Amino acid sequence: MNFNTRSSIRIDLRSDTATRPSAAMLARMLAADVGDEQLGEDPTTRMLEERSADLLGHEAALFLPTGTMCNQIALLLHCRPGDEVIAARVAHIYNSEGAGAAALAGALVHPIASSNGIFTGSDLTKAVRPYRPRAPRSRLVVIEQTSNRGGGAVWPISTVRSIVEGAHAHGLSVHMDGARLFNAVVASGTSAADFGRCCDSVWIDFSKGLGCPFGAVLAGSKSFIAEAWRWKHRLGGAMRQSGFMAAACLYALDHNVDRLAEDHSKARRFAARLFGSNGIKSPFSKVETNILFLDFADAGVSAPAVVQELRKQGIGLSLEGPSLARAVTHLDIGERDVEEAAEIVATTVATLSRTIATA
Ligand SMILES: *Cc1c(COP(=O)(O)O)cnc(C)c1O
Repeated sequence: MNFNTRSSIRIDLRSDTATRPSAAMLARMLAADVGDEQLGEDPTTRMLEERSADLLGHEAALFLPTGTMCNQIALLLHCRPGDEVIAARVAHIYNSEGAGAAALAGALVHPIASSNGIFTGSDLTKAVRPYRPRAPRSRLVVIEQTSNRGGGAVWPISTVRSIVEGAHAHGLSVHMDGARLFNAVVASGTSAADFGRCCDSVWIDFSKGLGCPFGAVLAGSKSFIAEAWRWKHRLGGAMRQSGFMAAACLYALDHNVDRLAEDHSKARRFAARLFGSNGIKSPFSKVETNILFLDFADAGVSAPAVVQELRKQGIGLSLEGPSLARAVTHLDIGERDVEEAAEIVATTVATLSRTIATA
């Protein structure tokens, strides 16, 4: 494991998880009214759950420490061992959850091709297996809104609806991994309830663009959430005075949703400054939200070399492949940081590619 300390990074674009709670968020946490969550006696957590259920167009919701736990509980509830989950090949649930689908739910992920992490209703229908005793049973489809490794692309509501229609017609449920659902809401103008209500389960993450140090909420029907509670206990995720955490999330809903538009415009500016200069390209056609990928192949430099060199200069990008790095804008990245980071990335790539060309 690589336990790099963050201290050397001045401008941390590795992820929108890099934020620290603001003084106002911390003040709200300190003032929280709390009780025992497991006994249903934490008023702040209950308030967050009710508000989130409404926001997401569902009957009920459950506070969980992380988004990964939301995904895992949803898989456990929608699937029986041996069932198949259809998801984009780039999906978090397939690549970044320690194969929890297999290890916990006993489900098989069927990774399918996508464009920017997004597939269509007809792609889904083609992937669903007709009944055959020796084939796995297709049971669930996962929509990752926005698509992280699809460069922050937004699934339009029309695409979501056509997938839901196809899925339900074939007896599949639909789960929305809404780690960045609010980025999609702000970018598309479609409400979270419109996106959420057509899916059978949906969750939002408070530790991504919303600026909290933790927290996620999973929403669904009353009976789904009653069973989700059981898995929350089994997985060890039930808490006590979780109102201190929930207070941060309530603060984020009040103050940090609309401002995501600023993160999107910062990402577009970063892209405008960088793409086309020194052979830096985007693998995707546009920057829709707060995530951008930088492809250095045409610049003739390797991404590990660029990321390492940038790190020495206090800029954090995340390494995503031999020629690929990712930058994510967030609450703790200012306008000036964007200008400065773009400048340093451009000069670093130019210097490295000259060094290689003359070596
Ligand atoms: C971060 C992320 C998750 C997991 O959320 P955590 O709160 O970090 O556990 C799941 N899906 C996507 C698309 C993510 O970006």
